[in-house]
Amino acid sequence: MASELSALRKEIAKLRLLVYKDPLTGVYNRRGFIEEVQKILAAVERGRAHGRSKAKFSLTALCLVMLDIDNFKKLNDTYGHDAGDAALKDVAQTLADGVRQSDFVGRWGGEEFVIALLGANEKDGALVAENLRRAVADKKLAFKKKKIPLSASFGVTEFRLKDDLGKLIDRADKAMYVAKKGGKNQVVKFSDIP
Ligand code: GH3
Ligand code: MG
Ligand code: MG
Repeated sequence: MASELSALRKEIAKLRLLVYKDPLTGVYNRRGFIEEVQKILAAVERGRAHGRSKAKFSLTALCLVMLDIDNFKKLNDTYGHDAGDAALKDVAQTLADGVRQSDFVGRWGGEEFVIALLGANEKDGALVAENLRRAVADKKLAFKKKKIPLSASFGVTEFRLKDDLGKLIDRADKAMYVAKKGGKNQVVKFSDIP
Protein backbone atom coordinates (compact mmCIF):
# COMPACT_ATOMS: atom_id res chain seq x y z
CA MET A 1 0.00 0.00 0.00
CA ALA A 2 2.74 2.43 1.04
CA SER A 3 4.79 1.56 -2.01
CA GLU A 4 1.76 2.01 -4.28
CA LEU A 5 1.26 5.45 -2.78
CA SER A 6 4.90 6.38 -3.21
CA ALA A 7 4.80 5.15 -6.84
CA LEU A 8 1.73 7.30 -7.40
CA ARG A 9 3.48 10.32 -5.87
CA LYS A 10 6.46 9.77 -8.15
CA GLU A 11 4.16 9.50 -11.14
CA ILE A 12 2.41 12.76 -10.19
CA ALA A 13 5.77 14.53 -9.77
CA LYS A 14 6.79 13.29 -13.21
CA LEU A 15 3.56 14.54 -14.78
CA ARG A 16 3.89 17.92 -13.03
CA LEU A 17 7.33 18.28 -14.57
CA LEU A 18 5.92 17.49 -18.02
CA VAL A 19 3.09 19.96 -17.67
CA TYR A 20 5.04 22.79 -16.03
CA LYS A 21 8.51 22.67 -17.59
CA ASP A 22 9.72 23.71 -21.01
CA PRO A 23 11.27 20.56 -22.52
CA LEU A 24 13.90 22.46 -24.53
CA THR A 25 15.34 24.68 -21.79
CA GLY A 26 14.30 22.96 -18.56
CA VAL A 27 12.91 26.17 -17.05
CA TYR A 28 9.19 26.67 -16.30
CA ASN A 29 6.91 27.00 -19.29
CA ARG A 30 4.30 29.77 -19.31
CA ARG A 31 1.71 27.65 -17.56
CA GLY A 32 4.14 26.56 -14.82
CA PHE A 33 5.44 30.07 -14.28
CA ILE A 34 1.91 31.44 -13.91
CA GLU A 35 0.93 28.64 -11.54
CA GLU A 36 3.95 29.08 -9.25
CA VAL A 37 4.23 32.86 -9.29
CA GLN A 38 0.52 33.38 -8.65
CA LYS A 39 0.94 31.52 -5.36
CA ILE A 40 3.91 33.72 -4.51
CA LEU A 41 1.97 36.89 -5.36
CA ALA A 42 -0.77 35.89 -2.94
CA ALA A 43 1.91 35.48 -0.26
CA VAL A 44 3.39 38.91 -1.06
CA GLU A 45 -0.07 40.48 -0.87
CA ARG A 46 -0.55 38.87 2.56
CA GLY A 47 2.93 39.96 3.64
CA ARG A 48 2.14 43.54 2.70
CA ALA A 49 -1.19 43.44 4.51
CA HIS A 50 0.46 42.27 7.73
CA GLY A 51 3.16 44.89 7.54
CA ARG A 52 6.90 44.47 7.67
CA SER A 53 7.29 44.81 11.44
CA LYS A 54 4.70 42.28 12.54
CA ALA A 55 5.61 39.47 10.22
CA LYS A 56 9.36 39.54 10.29
CA PHE A 57 9.92 36.74 7.84
CA SER A 58 7.04 37.32 5.49
CA LEU A 59 7.56 38.11 1.84
CA THR A 60 6.79 41.74 1.06
CA ALA A 61 8.48 42.40 -2.28
CA LEU A 62 8.77 40.80 -5.70
CA CYS A 63 10.35 41.97 -8.91
CA LEU A 64 9.41 40.78 -12.36
CA VAL A 65 11.95 40.76 -15.17
CA MET A 66 11.08 40.09 -18.78
CA LEU A 67 13.68 39.63 -21.49
CA ASP A 68 13.76 38.88 -25.17
CA ILE A 69 16.80 37.69 -27.11
CA ASP A 70 17.97 40.31 -29.62
CA ASN A 71 17.96 39.59 -33.37
CA PHE A 72 16.94 36.00 -32.82
CA LYS A 73 15.38 35.67 -36.23
CA LYS A 74 18.69 36.58 -37.83
CA LEU A 75 20.47 33.94 -35.72
CA ASN A 76 17.97 31.30 -36.88
CA ASP A 77 18.22 32.43 -40.48
CA THR A 78 22.02 32.61 -40.49
CA TYR A 79 22.97 29.50 -38.50
CA GLY A 80 19.79 27.42 -38.57
CA HIS A 81 17.10 26.35 -36.14
CA ASP A 82 19.52 24.13 -34.16
CA ALA A 83 21.64 27.18 -33.36
CA GLY A 84 18.49 28.99 -32.26
CA ASP A 85 17.57 26.11 -29.98
CA ALA A 86 21.12 26.01 -28.57
CA ALA A 87 20.91 29.74 -27.88
CA LEU A 88 17.62 29.30 -26.02
CA LYS A 89 19.17 26.56 -23.84
CA ASP A 90 22.27 28.64 -23.23
CA VAL A 91 20.38 31.78 -22.23
CA ALA A 92 18.02 29.80 -19.97
CA GLN A 93 21.06 28.27 -18.23
CA THR A 94 22.69 31.68 -17.79
CA LEU A 95 19.48 33.02 -16.25
CA ALA A 96 19.06 30.06 -13.92
CA ASP A 97 22.71 30.32 -12.85
CA GLY A 98 22.40 34.05 -12.23
CA VAL A 99 19.45 34.06 -9.84
CA ARG A 100 18.74 32.49 -6.44
CA GLN A 101 17.45 28.93 -6.10
CA SER A 102 14.25 30.41 -4.64
CA ASP A 103 13.58 32.63 -7.70
CA PHE A 104 11.53 31.53 -10.71
CA VAL A 105 12.69 31.45 -14.31
CA GLY A 106 10.22 30.74 -17.10
CA ARG A 107 10.06 30.68 -20.87
CA TRP A 108 7.13 32.92 -21.72
CA GLY A 109 7.19 31.89 -25.37
CA GLY A 110 9.52 31.95 -28.39
CA GLU A 111 12.73 33.68 -27.29
CA GLU A 112 11.11 35.54 -24.41
CA PHE A 113 11.83 34.70 -20.77
CA VAL A 114 10.37 35.87 -17.46
CA ILE A 115 11.95 35.88 -14.02
CA ALA A 116 10.33 36.43 -10.61
CA LEU A 117 12.84 37.67 -8.04
CA LEU A 118 11.56 37.09 -4.52
CA GLY A 119 12.07 39.82 -1.94
CA ALA A 120 13.45 42.22 -4.55
CA ASN A 121 12.24 45.71 -5.39
CA GLU A 122 12.72 47.33 -8.80
CA LYS A 123 16.16 48.69 -7.95
CA ASP A 124 17.41 45.28 -6.73
CA GLY A 125 15.86 43.66 -9.78
CA ALA A 126 17.55 46.08 -12.16
CA LEU A 127 20.94 45.18 -10.65
CA VAL A 128 20.24 41.47 -11.11
CA ALA A 129 18.99 42.11 -14.66
CA GLU A 130 22.12 44.11 -15.47
CA ASN A 131 24.29 41.20 -14.28
CA LEU A 132 22.25 38.79 -16.39
CA ARG A 133 22.45 41.10 -19.40
CA ARG A 134 26.24 41.22 -19.07
CA ALA A 135 26.48 37.45 -18.54
CA VAL A 136 24.47 36.80 -21.74
CA ALA A 137 26.47 39.36 -23.74
CA ASP A 138 29.86 38.17 -22.45
CA LYS A 139 29.27 34.49 -23.05
CA LYS A 140 29.41 33.55 -26.73
CA LEU A 141 27.31 30.66 -28.00
CA ALA A 142 29.51 27.74 -29.00
CA PHE A 143 27.94 26.21 -32.10
CA LYS A 144 29.68 24.01 -34.68
CA LYS A 145 33.13 25.43 -33.93
CA LYS A 146 31.74 28.95 -34.15
CA LYS A 147 31.44 31.49 -31.34
CA ILE A 148 28.21 33.38 -31.87
CA PRO A 149 27.56 36.57 -29.89
CA LEU A 150 24.19 36.84 -28.12
CA SER A 151 22.40 39.63 -26.33
CA ALA A 152 19.01 40.32 -24.82
CA SER A 153 16.84 43.30 -23.86
CA PHE A 154 15.37 43.48 -20.36
CA GLY A 155 12.34 45.16 -18.75
CA VAL A 156 12.02 45.36 -14.96
CA THR A 157 9.11 46.20 -12.66
CA GLU A 158 8.25 45.66 -8.98
CA PHE A 159 5.14 44.38 -7.23
CA ARG A 160 2.61 47.02 -6.25
CA LEU A 161 -0.36 46.59 -3.95
CA LYS A 162 -3.34 44.99 -5.74
CA ASP A 163 -1.12 43.87 -8.60
CA ASP A 164 -1.73 40.65 -10.43
CA LEU A 165 0.65 38.74 -12.67
CA GLY A 166 -0.99 40.17 -15.78
CA LYS A 167 -0.27 43.75 -14.72
CA LEU A 168 3.30 42.90 -13.76
CA ILE A 169 3.92 41.19 -17.10
CA ASP A 170 2.36 44.11 -18.92
CA ARG A 171 4.65 46.68 -17.23
CA ALA A 172 7.77 44.52 -17.67
CA ASP A 173 6.85 44.05 -21.33
CA LYS A 174 6.45 47.83 -21.81
CA ALA A 175 9.87 48.44 -20.22
CA MET A 176 11.40 45.73 -22.42
CA TYR A 177 9.93 47.36 -25.50
CA VAL A 178 11.63 50.62 -24.52
CA ALA A 179 14.91 48.68 -24.13
CA LYS A 180 14.49 47.36 -27.70
CA LYS A 181 13.68 50.81 -29.04
CA GLY A 182 16.67 52.24 -27.18
CA GLY A 183 19.07 50.03 -29.14
CA LYS A 184 18.69 46.54 -27.50
CA ASN A 185 21.19 44.82 -25.13
CA GLN A 186 20.06 46.98 -22.23
CA VAL A 187 17.95 47.03 -19.06
CA VAL A 188 15.04 49.44 -18.60
CA LYS A 189 13.08 49.94 -15.38
CA PHE A 190 9.36 50.60 -15.80
CA SER A 191 9.60 53.57 -13.41
CA ASP A 192 12.18 55.19 -15.72
CA ILE A 193 9.81 55.31 -18.68
CA PRO A 194 8.72 58.93 -19.17
P1 GH3 B 1 14.28 41.62 -31.73
O1 GH3 B 1 15.74 41.88 -31.60
O2 GH3 B 1 13.48 42.86 -31.98
O3 GH3 B 1 13.74 40.84 -30.59
O4 GH3 B 1 14.11 40.72 -33.04
P2 GH3 B 1 14.05 39.14 -33.13
O5 GH3 B 1 14.60 38.72 -34.44
O6 GH3 B 1 14.68 38.52 -31.93
O7 GH3 B 1 12.50 38.86 -32.95
P3 GH3 B 1 11.41 38.29 -33.94
O8 GH3 B 1 10.15 38.30 -33.15
O9 GH3 B 1 11.46 39.01 -35.24
O10 GH3 B 1 11.83 36.78 -34.20
C1 GH3 B 1 11.69 35.78 -33.26
C2 GH3 B 1 12.05 34.47 -33.91
O11 GH3 B 1 12.14 33.42 -32.92
C3 GH3 B 1 11.07 33.95 -34.91
C4 GH3 B 1 10.96 32.46 -34.68
O12 GH3 B 1 11.30 31.77 -35.84
C5 GH3 B 1 11.99 32.18 -33.60
N1 GH3 B 1 11.62 31.15 -32.63
C6 GH3 B 1 10.54 31.13 -31.81
N2 GH3 B 1 10.54 29.98 -31.07
C7 GH3 B 1 11.65 29.26 -31.41
C8 GH3 B 1 12.21 27.99 -31.00
O13 GH3 B 1 11.69 27.27 -30.15
N3 GH3 B 1 13.39 27.59 -31.58
C9 GH3 B 1 14.00 28.37 -32.53
N4 GH3 B 1 15.16 27.92 -33.05
N5 GH3 B 1 13.50 29.53 -32.96
C10 GH3 B 1 12.33 30.00 -32.41
MG1 MG C 1 13.79 38.85 -30.04
MG1 MG D 1 10.21 38.04 -29.26
